[in-house]
Amino acid sequence: MKVQRTRSQDRILNLLKSLNRAVSAQDIYVELRNREQSMGLATVYRSLEVLKLGGAVQVRTLANGESLYSSVQRDQHHLTCLNCGASITLNECPVHQLESQLEDSHQFRIYYHTLEFFGLCDRCSTAHDSEKADSTPHL
Ligand SMILES: [Zn+2]
Ligand SMILES: [Zn+2]
Repeated sequence: MKVQRTRSQDRILNLLKSLNRAVSAQDIYVELRNREQSMGLATVYRSLEVLKLGGAVQVRTLANGESLYSSVQRDQHHLTCLNCGASITLNECPVHQLESQLEDSHQFRIYYHTLEFFGLCDRCSTAHDSEKADSTPHL
């Protein structure tokens, strides 16, 4: 089935593909304006919703509630440091196999999945350890 996309949806999708990173709706709005392809923020949200349900765009919600959008083409996962925010990209998808198993067992069409790992990066955990060794109480 060929999906008919509006011009706004096309522009957003092209933008997401060219950015190659996850961005917020606000970022998309600003970026489109910079490219002289302005559209209203409401249109951005509406288009993202349609793209999302069509499986073309994926959403990742941050701890602060902000939604980040990216085009669905990269099955990629990250280790995120809770302290400095460093994001380390994993080279392989640990659950790739699981996805096809679930599609079979549940008769469910999976567009994408999210999988994130949180903790402290090497640098921060080293700093954290030396802080603990310090006897001065803080906070
Ligand atoms: Zn860190
Ligand atoms: Zn994956």
